[in-house]
Amino acid sequence: MQAHSAHHRVETLRERAPRVGGHPLLSGRRLAELEADLRTAREFSLRTIRPRALEFDRIALDEPGNFAWDVVREGGKLGLLSIVTPRAAGGPVDWACLRAALISEELAAGCGGFATLFGAHSLGASPLVMGGPACWEGALKEAASSVADPRPQIMAFCITEPTAGTDVEHHVWMHAAQTVTRADRTDGGWLLSGTKHFISNGNVATWLTVFMATDPRRPYETLTAFLVDSRSPGFSVVRCEHKMGHRASPAAELKFDEVFVSDRNVIGRPGDGMALTIAVLAASRPPVGAIGTGIARGAYERLLDWLREDPAAAGLLERQQVQIALAKMKEEIHLARQAYIDAATHFDTFSVGSLSGAPAMRAFGRLPSALRDNSLVRRSMDTKVGRGMVMEAMTRKVGNRGLTRTLGLSSMAKACGSDAAMRVTGMALEIAGLDCGALRPELEKCMRDAKLTQIYEGTNQLNRLEVFEGLVAEHAMSVLPRPEVTDRHREVTAARVPVGSR
Ligand SMILES: Cc1cc2nc3c(=O)[nH]c(=O)nc-3n(C[C@H](O)[C@H](O)[C@H](O)COP(=O)(O)OP(=O)(O)OC[C@H]3O[C@@H](n4cnc5c(N)ncnc54)[C@H](O)[C@@H]3O)c2cc1C
Repeated sequence: MQAHSAHHRVETLRERAPRVGGHPLLSGRRLAELEADLRTAREFSLRTIRPRALEFDRIALDEPGNFAWDVVREGGKLGLLSIVTPRAAGGPVDWACLRAALISEELAAGCGGFATLFGAHSLGASPLVMGGPACWEGALKEAASSVADPRPQIMAFCITEPTAGTDVEHHVWMHAAQTVTRADRTDGGWLLSGTKHFISNGNVATWLTVFMATDPRRPYETLTAFLVDSRSPGFSVVRCEHKMGHRASPAAELKFDEVFVSDRNVIGRPGDGMALTIAVLAASRPPVGAIGTGIARGAYERLLDWLREDPAAAGLLERQQVQIALAKMKEEIHLARQAYIDAATHFDTFSVGSLSGAPAMRAFGRLPSALRDNSLVRRSMDTKVGRGMVMEAMTRKVGNRGLTRTLGLSSMAKACGSDAAMRVTGMALEIAGLDCGALRPELEKCMRDAKLTQIYEGTNQLNRLEVFEGLVAEHAMSVLPRPEVTDRHREVTAARVPVGSR
């Protein structure tokens, strides 16, 4: 079977989502940029990722830590390692969420694992982007300029712990989370200790954005984001998971044994961790919905190629039962895509994403690099005011209600895309049956890849509760700018089992 059939014409963004194409804020140059990104990602996915998807899937069976450095290098040269970096921080665009989502769908149509690999890197970079100008020099730039190295600098995002997964992703349950990591104060910085697990890219990352409480008895109030250099003493990789799907992206358990992090590498301010987590998840869930959409599309396109081209499938396409099933698959993909495009456009134009294009941020981005590196400017950014810049802007421009709504839309996109992936890959396997030759392992992989999209970035149960809170009950969480204690929080905190008594 051909890697790329002529039947799958490249749809433009305007064709895919007329509402986005016609959006007054997304016209002219911006639309042209997104169309170009779409074409680049599709080309890379068809030429490099799809032909090697099964190869990396098989290698990881024996070597779960394997990492496709050559593919990553090639993607890095195309800008896939700086997808979310805003212009003001030296990156390519201000419309990061929609851009990341569109690219993710293209990559996932080739291989869900590679989409997750590049997505996990963007996820690791996101807290730095949202940390504001104080966090834009150092790691973000070093990573961006390492793309030509044999092993470019990869990033990873670490919140999940062996005893706390869903809880650390929710603004109320975090009060009761049984976290086992801690950051202790020391001269000039913090000592990080404990274990994080299921960390995508964790075994190969140079930079990790790590969330730990400075007082484990008050995880919500004291959650803090740290930038960790994996070359630091005390950091180690315990093991990599044997996974069912997304095997091109390794997931690792990581140990922190009093890893020193200087005050300068605190992202935002101590205690901003929960607000940052929510903002990052609101940004990352549309791209995960897009990964689900892409996996579904990959299965649909592979099946259609087979139905049209393989003699073993002769006559099947003329059967109404098959035509109805294909139409249903197309419908699932279309609706999942609209959901992530809606959520991402909302995030970029009306919510947290719009802050990176705000005048103050742009003004900083326009400073010549010599001036940005000037010690006075750097020191002014490294103050409480400089570090709190984005969080304060979020409070003023988005607010707690706006953030809850954004998270609701993003969570809806994530749940829609991942469920569509499971349904469509299942249907594709049913139509193809047992005797479809080389198509069989490809479709089986699509289905194995689909399952993880229902689990990571918060399980779909959690995501649907976020939809309820943000879009049905229309609550306003209280993570901005500092945790306010609400009656609901008090209730949960009162019911909490004290740390150490379990
Ligand atoms: C391959 C892989 C890669 C990952 N990559 C990363 C990464 O890069 N960085 C990172 O930080 N994390 C990562 N994760 C972690 C992922 O986000 C968590 O697995 C996920 O949040 C679920 O947490 P858990 O596994 O601890 O499940 P649990 O929280 O133990 O949940 C188990 C089940 O209980 C349900 N549940 C839990 N609490 C509630 C509740 N209050 N109400 C209703 N239902 C509930 C859940 O929905 C789920 O079905 C990854 C996970 C996997 C599997």
